[in-house]
Amino acid sequence: MLTLERFSFGVGDRFAHQAKAQLQAFVRLAEAGVHVAPVWNKSHREHTFVGSEPQSVYDAAKAAVHTLGWSKKWHVDADHIRLETVDRFLECSDFFTLDVADAIGQRASREEVEGFVARHPELVGAIEIKGVTAPFTTTKEEVARVVSKYLLAVQEVGKIYRHISEKKGEANFIAEVSMDETDAPQTPSELLIILAALADEKVCVQTIAPKFTGRFNKGVDYVGNIVQFEREFKDDLAVIAHAVELYGLPANLKLSVHSGSDKFSLYPIIRRALMKTGAGLHLKTAGTTWLEELVGLSESGGDGLCLTKEIYAYALANVGELCAPYASVIDIDRTQLPCAETVNGWSGAQFANAIRHIPSHPEFNAHIRQLLHVSFKLAAKAGARYFELLKRNEAIVAKQVTENIFERHMRPLFLA
Ligand SMILES: [Zn+2]
Repeated sequence: MLTLERFSFGVGDRFAHQAKAQLQAFVRLAEAGVHVAPVWNKSHREHTFVGSEPQSVYDAAKAAVHTLGWSKKWHVDADHIRLETVDRFLECSDFFTLDVADAIGQRASREEVEGFVARHPELVGAIEIKGVTAPFTTTKEEVARVVSKYLLAVQEVGKIYRHISEKKGEANFIAEVSMDETDAPQTPSELLIILAALADEKVCVQTIAPKFTGRFNKGVDYVGNIVQFEREFKDDLAVIAHAVELYGLPANLKLSVHSGSDKFSLYPIIRRALMKTGAGLHLKTAGTTWLEELVGLSESGGDGLCLTKEIYAYALANVGELCAPYASVIDIDRTQLPCAETVNGWSGAQFANAIRHIPSHPEFNAHIRQLLHVSFKLAAKAGARYFELLKRNEAIVAKQVTENIFERHMRPLFLA
């Protein structure tokens, strides 16, 4: 298998214009002494909305790597793919996020469940795991219940994994398993059972994205119980270390946090846990880089600000349609969205302050930010006009992109 580094960080770049500015943040971090591998991620859904091809992600990343002389590893992630969507990503990706959330809850047959329970007596009873807050105690019935919920999903992972292996060769890609886009979070004891099942399927999983408790809305901070998250995160790390040893999973297996971006209040917790355990991390951010493009265009004033205001007005008029595909991962209070006339009177700095994610800023508006985050289709629609403005204002936009990743994400996670 292609080995993923201990620390990796996923960035999205909706329109493939900011790879260099994104990579600049990794360069800065490396200069500060911490090596984190950049991973450019874009899902099938995003490509469909924007009308782009997976190859464009690779090309943009490659050009950035060349321009900045980045000599360390970098990857391109076919994000949230399934058996029916993976093929167009095979050529240009070396990292595959196998999404089997849809298969969770499809009941496995009784024979298969019984077979699993019989194969895994170590999962029944009091399970001692080093580093876990309180030992798990399970019964056969409990294990059977969990297995019947996840077994088909894990078998589906096996199918996608083998499909990619056949096409690319097992030595040439990194596999992540994602179960985050589902209703109920997975507890650490469920994670252990899922890992045992993945080992049965002989999937060389290097990173796994469970659904954690609490809300991971797009582009805004975590909403939930921080104390509970910390316990769950630490227990997941302990479970992973245990499963690696017990089931012979890849030694570098680590958690992937599909953050939806900007889970600032979780960063100190994650950082402490990684320092204490020596564990690795893949942190995946969503496509908030496009919001930094809007911040830069607003600040540039003139035509850039005009287009940003137009996009807002259009988004406001079509709020229902734009938000529908993301209903479960945004919380917009429509009464907090100012009317288009009000926003048209704003200065560039004022508009930038409303979107830029500095929650303590008096002009910051999380509702506008979330609405614009899901409105990236509108920039795709503006097409050449949008891209022309990005080019003309490259320096000011790049500054926002780099600073956002480095100062607001990497510094608290890796440097503090
Ligand atoms: Zn995800």
